[in-house]
Amino acid sequence: MGMRIVDLRIPARDQLGNVVCTSVLQANGATPADIRTWVRRGEITRLRQGWYALAEADPDVVRAVRAGGVLGCASALTFYGGWDLHDNRLHSYRTGWAQREPLPRLPSCPAPFPRRRMNRAVVPLELAVAQARLCLTTEQLVTQVESLMTGRWITPSKAAELLGNLAHKLDISDSGTETMVRMRLRGRGIKLRPQVHIPGVGPVDFLIGDRLVLEIDSQAHHRSASAYHRDRQRDQRLAAMGYLVIRVTWEQVFFQWGEVDAVLTTLIAGRRHLDRRSRARSAAA
Ligand SMILES: [Zn+2]
Repeated sequence: MGMRIVDLRIPARDQLGNVVCTSVLQANGATPADIRTWVRRGEITRLRQGWYALAEADPDVVRAVRAGGVLGCASALTFYGGWDLHDNRLHSYRTGWAQREPLPRLPSCPAPFPRRRMNRAVVPLELAVAQARLCLTTEQLVTQVESLMTGRWITPSKAAELLGNLAHKLDISDSGTETMVRMRLRGRGIKLRPQVHIPGVGPVDFLIGDRLVLEIDSQAHHRSASAYHRDRQRDQRLAAMGYLVIRVTWEQVFFQWGEVDAVLTTLIAGRRHLDRRSRARSAAA
């Protein structure tokens, strides 16, 4: 009968995405004959020379390995719990290991040299960030690292260490969409405060000036009927207290940002974000 794949106790760090390489299988006691048997029985799937998918393998990891690399860059950050950039790209790391068989061409993300050999199917976090620095916009990179921190996958000090010279851009946010909006507005010199607690209402996503409230709908939060109702109640309470509420959809952040930007610019130019006292003060200045 021989050994079965399920009898191997492979450490979790070596079978990320349920994809493993031959050296890991052998280090855990499998013989070449075992591996051939498991492939023949369909217990594991050969992806390319030296790499196998176990049951319930992660489809993105499988794609990256089939194409001659491993999961890297932004896709690795998402794999570790970071926010999905929704950029319709598989980000990968082409390993330094020369392949003996032709592979489909995968547009690999840039990577710091020298390229490493890899015996795990997802690059370590530090390498993913090093790649992301070369591949992503600053906005995308900070959004992903901040979401890892918000989701408590990494500590704030680890997030700061990973971002290095960009660490000052970290702040608090409820979602990746909020991080992106915050960075865009601060990049334009607009002063805002995230997650401001307003008595009787609770935290609002952003407060600009004294009274302009910006609420961002994140796609991840599926709007239930009760959440829909609660949002309207909040808007009404804020209006009664003199706040001006602008609600921005996820689609607007991604596809129609210019529109939102124009509205905010008009409001701020007309000092509608300031209350009467601040307006008088800024007019006198
Ligand atoms: Zn990339």
